[in-house]
Amino acid sequence: MSKRDYYEVLEVPKNASADEIKKAYRKKAIKYHPDKNPGDKAAEEHFKEAAEAYEVLSDAQKRQKYDQFGHAGVGGAAGGGFGGGFSDIEDIFSSFGDIFGGHFGGFGGGGGRSRQRVNKGSNLRVKVKLNLSEIVNGVEKKIKVNKYVSCQHCNGSGAENSSSYSTCHTCNGRGQVTQVTNTFLGQMQSSSVCPSCKGEGKIITNKCVQCAGEGVKRDEEVISINIPAGVSEGMQLSMSGKGNAARRGGINGDLLIYIEEEAHPDLVREENNLIYNLLLSIPEAVLGTAAEIPTVDGKVKVKIDGGTQPGKVLRLRGKGVPEVNGYGKGDLLVNINVYMPETLTKEERKAMEDLQASENFKPSESTAKNFFRKVRSFFD
Ligand SMILES: [Zn+2]
Ligand SMILES: [Zn+2]
Repeated sequence: MSKRDYYEVLEVPKNASADEIKKAYRKKAIKYHPDKNPGDKAAEEHFKEAAEAYEVLSDAQKRQKYDQFGHAGVGGAAGGGFGGGFSDIEDIFSSFGDIFGGHFGGFGGGGGRSRQRVNKGSNLRVKVKLNLSEIVNGVEKKIKVNKYVSCQHCNGSGAENSSSYSTCHTCNGRGQVTQVTNTFLGQMQSSSVCPSCKGEGKIITNKCVQCAGEGVKRDEEVISINIPAGVSEGMQLSMSGKGNAARRGGINGDLLIYIEEEAHPDLVREENNLIYNLLLSIPEAVLGTAAEIPTVDGKVKVKIDGGTQPGKVLRLRGKGVPEVNGYGKGDLLVNINVYMPETLTKEERKAMEDLQASENFKPSESTAKNFFRKVRSFFD
């Protein structure tokens, strides 16, 4: 199923302010809230979709990535993490529960469940080096990472089995502790998350033998990353949920991918254009030739007209780097220069002297002016 545009999901314009986005999300979240639509699968999907859109658009960095790369920039196209949306409604509450304010009063706490602090796994950072052909064409990279993954033996819970728990004695299973403080205004009551069980209301008595109760362990994972065409050195892509798993079943961190460019032996990138310096011999420039120009897709033959001046720039349209947003492509610019031999044989010198005498070889004042104007206009 193709993903809907995040702005469309929240029904806000592309230039919506952070406040407008927040308001729009709040409206959607209240409309599709599971407490208001019990058992309604479609409402639940809308609820998750809105949360996913808000998760990206409320984060300036993620929003910029999304504007630039679309769903691919925030992990959508690669199918990881948020690509599939929030898997758990609880994740949404733990991330954005505060947006509801008092509206629904005490999410998670209301139904007798104690409010739990959800752990978030740390982000994982990798560098990916790409050659010019991969940048121009886009590429799927498989990379092996060493990271924390959820322990399969205990399903990330950290407990050996379902009877490995006992009620927390500190809070008697409530997950919260109430403190009464005597002040000169009278007794003040405050409640906070139980420090012993971290709000879970229970403690693990029999820890998972595989992960020692952590719920995570280190492992290698091969992750496929779809890199869109047109990226450049220093760009960062992120795949939500592909980072480290969190302790005891929290939310996964993100995978952050830094792009590095490998230099090409013949072509130099300048934004989305590629530059090639072509050096002709004097006879080639004067008589014309067919020059071989390297492109990322192999060599192409380009006709060089006789009388081509040094400083001339040929433009091979569309042979450059595509825009990363998918619209338009740069060009390949061929800078032409002419090689002058540094030493001459007797015969060559004679031939040159003959040419020197020829009127045809003398630049007139107007051609000289014209020539420099042309060259300068390219550098301006
Ligand atoms: Zn385990
Ligand atoms: Zn407790």
